[in-house]
Amino acid sequence: MTKAFNEPSFRDGVNLMVDRAMSVMGLDEGVAKAIKSCNAVLQVQFPVKIRGKIEVFTGWRATHSTHRLPSKGGIRYAPYADQNEVEALAALMTYKCAIVDVPFGGSKGALLIDPSQYSRDEMELITRRFTLELIRKGFLSPSTNVPAPDIGTGQREMAWMADTYKHLFPEDINYVACVTGKPVHHGGIQGRVEATGRGVQFAIKEFFRHSDDVKGAHMEGTLDGKTCVIQGLGNVGYHAAKFLSEEDGVKITAVIEYNGALINDDGIDIEQLHQHVEEHGGIESYPCAKFVENGHDVLEKKCDILIPAALESQITMENADQIKAKLIVEAANGPITFGADDILRKKGIVIIPDAYANAGGVTVSYFEWIRNISHIRFGRMQRRHDEMRGAEMTRVLEEATGRSVSDKMKNSISRGADELDLVRSGLDDTMRLAYQEIRETRENNENIDDLRTAVYVTSIEKIARSYLEVGVF
Ligand code: GLU
Repeated sequence: MTKAFNEPSFRDGVNLMVDRAMSVMGLDEGVAKAIKSCNAVLQVQFPVKIRGKIEVFTGWRATHSTHRLPSKGGIRYAPYADQNEVEALAALMTYKCAIVDVPFGGSKGALLIDPSQYSRDEMELITRRFTLELIRKGFLSPSTNVPAPDIGTGQREMAWMADTYKHLFPEDINYVACVTGKPVHHGGIQGRVEATGRGVQFAIKEFFRHSDDVKGAHMEGTLDGKTCVIQGLGNVGYHAAKFLSEEDGVKITAVIEYNGALINDDGIDIEQLHQHVEEHGGIESYPCAKFVENGHDVLEKKCDILIPAALESQITMENADQIKAKLIVEAANGPITFGADDILRKKGIVIIPDAYANAGGVTVSYFEWIRNISHIRFGRMQRRHDEMRGAEMTRVLEEATGRSVSDKMKNSISRGADELDLVRSGLDDTMRLAYQEIRETRENNENIDDLRTAVYVTSIEKIARSYLEVGVF
């Protein structure tokens, strides 16, 4: 809660946004209640012996919805996690899955921990113990509840979780599908690590394909040369900034981290900065940009696109009025509070909301889960076949025209798609179609003039349909 303005909690803020959408839909009150309520919340406390002393850890897993199974969502490790946040994030997962047609319910988990205080072996012990709690209480299995990485967790934690599940249920043929975001050699899928950032890029690219939407955000033309401020250089922020700058000509004029920000109006080389952070542990000493200590103020810097890719409640009623970006893309979950959302909309700032903008992660998790339960890598059966057909086509072309096709052309025609190509293509298609659906909802309803309400209306319509068709028992 921001002190000065007495803003609602994260969970209440999400519910208020949902209420706003439900009120324009005229949804049946009972169905609205069923959709909004959180199905189950588990809180666990468990002891682990660390350096000879017993420590007790607290964790949560909230299952917001089960209209589709499994319920899906990440697990974060953070020293500030709490149940309210976990419930808000689980609800967001429900709407997120629906908007991108991922046939899952919504769930989320958290462990109250500062991972920097523990060794690798200690983290493994704590993670395996937490996993046991989740499994025993029915909050982790390939068919009912499937975690994934989030803030403070990654491939390493997912591998430990999958391995713990496998040891308990070796007879479950689908054991490897009990979590997603695993390392590729442990049942993961190519492209999952970059997926959320890639999805943010695809969302922005699709937005820029609609010139009237671009105009509505007081911009024109393509992405090339647009300025962008990014908050958070974690997995999501790093990949989004890297792809937008390297592939689409976007100029990253500021990078905000928890302890300050870097500014360079000529653009920051994200890959170079990332390597600097790997080597020096932070952005402070990066030589090719100006470092300022009060990073939070840099959210207010003039730019075309602002991408908050860190934590929730970054743009609040305190700073919303000072924001000068034309387009805000919520790569993080809940970076704009309910009150701030209202201020920004009145200022004419366009927001591409979290439930859509960062859905790339869960989309590729869905691909990974399918790969796991079908027990075969995408492209394994048809890649060489496609290559042979391509080679045959170039041969026929050469014969028919009497001219030779260049080696470069031959390669591009005959190259069969590998798993990464297919994952990127599936993600691109998903992000494009979802945006088009959201636009249609906005266009067809005169009471909707923002993308967030359009996202919620679109996803709630799908969830409501599944409640109404199947019934409630
Ligand atoms: N933690 C990610 C999210 O918030 C990914 C969830 C998943 O892949 O299940 O969307």
